Amino acid sequence: MTNNNNSRILLIYTGGTIGMCRNSSTGALQPFDFSQLNSHIPELAHLNTQIDVHTFNPPIDSSDMTPQLWINLVSDIAKVYNDYDGFVILHGTDTMSYTASALSFMFENLTKPIILTGSQLPIGQPRTDGKENLITSVEIAAAKRPDGQAMVPEVCIYFNWKLLRGNRTMKHSSDEFNAFKSFNFPNLANAGVDLVYHEANIRRPDPTKPMRPLMSIDNNVIIFSIFPGIREDIIRHVLTTPDLKGVVMRTFGSGNAPQLPWLKEAIAEATARGKVIVNVSQCMQGCIEMGRYSTGYQLKEAGVVSGRDMTVECAVTKLMCLLSQYSDIDTVRQMMTKDLRGELSEQVL
Ligand code: ASP
Repeated sequence: MTNNNNSRILLIYTGGTIGMCRNSSTGALQPFDFSQLNSHIPELAHLNTQIDVHTFNPPIDSSDMTPQLWINLVSDIAKVYNDYDGFVILHGTDTMSYTASALSFMFENLTKPIILTGSQLPIGQPRTDGKENLITSVEIAAAKRPDGQAMVPEVCIYFNWKLLRGNRTMKHSSDEFNAFKSFNFPNLANAGVDLVYHEANIRRPDPTKPMRPLMSIDNNVIIFSIFPGIREDIIRHVLTTPDLKGVVMRTFGSGNAPQLPWLKEAIAEATARGKVIVNVSQCMQGCIEMGRYSTGYQLKEAGVVSGRDMTVECAVTKLMCLLSQYSDIDTVRQMMTKDLRGELSEQVL
């Protein structure tokens, strides 16, 4: 890895816990002034990296994240893409995995790092995890290989000493510092005394192709979970919603659902009407295999598409991106099962 002298990083603060500090006179938490970043976090000066700051106005709690704000983020980054070596996005933890997944599909052939991070405790609080998460994210965003290419040209989440592929993550804890996990794909890097990159796990862009930003999302989709006691009238109501185009269906185990004749029939009718129904497991680890049990096979017969080992966050954002790009439903169904950004294992690991 080369030294990151003279690197230029754009830091985008969207909101969230990380950007809070304590007012010295009142003791109350208030938004941190990111234009004064170096005086608040003097350690950043040791990285020899120029950091420019862009702040959402107003900053948002990440529960208020929207597809339009994802498009704004993509457009903000695309406009200055050639001016920076990498990008760090400070984001609330609640929907960080959705944003990381969406952005991974909204940048085709990404050649620079986009590192999302945040914290469980505000940056201005003793015992904060925000400082380390921020400092190491900047270091990763600036890191280059000896050939001058970015070390990690991917959309990632850095949190609690681990660099994870963004579209493989989920927030699994609301109170541990170790808030994010990637159950179905190994870490891209680990931070300890040294920052160790696991190069075999990192994707490389095609150098012959330019980066292409995609700036559309189709949110005519729904996520629903199968559970014992699921009702026909409610499911039929959902599946016949006007304008509905796609469903992420969270099933049991390796992709199984109750053998209720009405359920198979309602799903088969919806797929025949052109809805894309994607099967994703309620288990955090493992892969959909609709051929393993007859409770799964019936879904395959009804036209359900396998989400393989994708997270729910990834499946729904991928579906929204594909629906906005392709009007041909069979293309969307086929692309859902293809590995586009390292988000699913075509060969189970
Ligand atoms: N509710 C906050 C958010 O997601 C929590 C956090 O920042 O971690 O914006």
